[in-house]
Amino acid sequence: MSKEMYLISACLLGINCRYNGTSSRIEELERLIDSGRLIPICPEVLGGLDTPREPCEIINQANGSLKVMSESDLDCTSEFKNGAQKILEMAEVCDVKKVILKANSPSCGSGYIYDGTFSSKLIEGDGLTSKLLLENDIEVYNETNWESGDFI
Ligand code: SF4
Repeated sequence: MSKEMYLISACLLGINCRYNGTSSRIEELERLIDSGRLIPICPEVLGGLDTPREPCEIINQANGSLKVMSESDLDCTSEFKNGAQKILEMAEVCDVKKVILKANSPSCGSGYIYDGTFSSKLIEGDGLTSKLLLENDIEVYNETNWESGDFI
């Protein structure tokens, strides 16, 4: 039987792919690397954005749709959607059932994201990649709620 594989936000493993060219390294998560089951991913880079890049936040439209805008008002919605779709395809190819994605990000966040005003205020919601994975019955954890027993 093949090993169960997990997608994980690359920035949580110390890869400098965050918008500002840094990582959000979590040492405890690096211990999972030896399991050989982690696939590091960054939806924003995979969607075509550079590193570093402008910070982006999700803006909910009055008509119920959403946009992802940069701080200087560039529309990055298509790159974020493109990245989310590619991550879903990767999850399907690798038969992934669980992921650990960075909290609060407009791509990777689950449960809470920033409110679209670039004022560090969190609201309930999911990033675009997490939302798409959840809609496809993939369990989404973040660096604050994963438990090692669930991932080895
Ligand atoms: Fe990390 Fe996800 Fe942002 Fe990439 S898109 S830097 S993996 S939080």
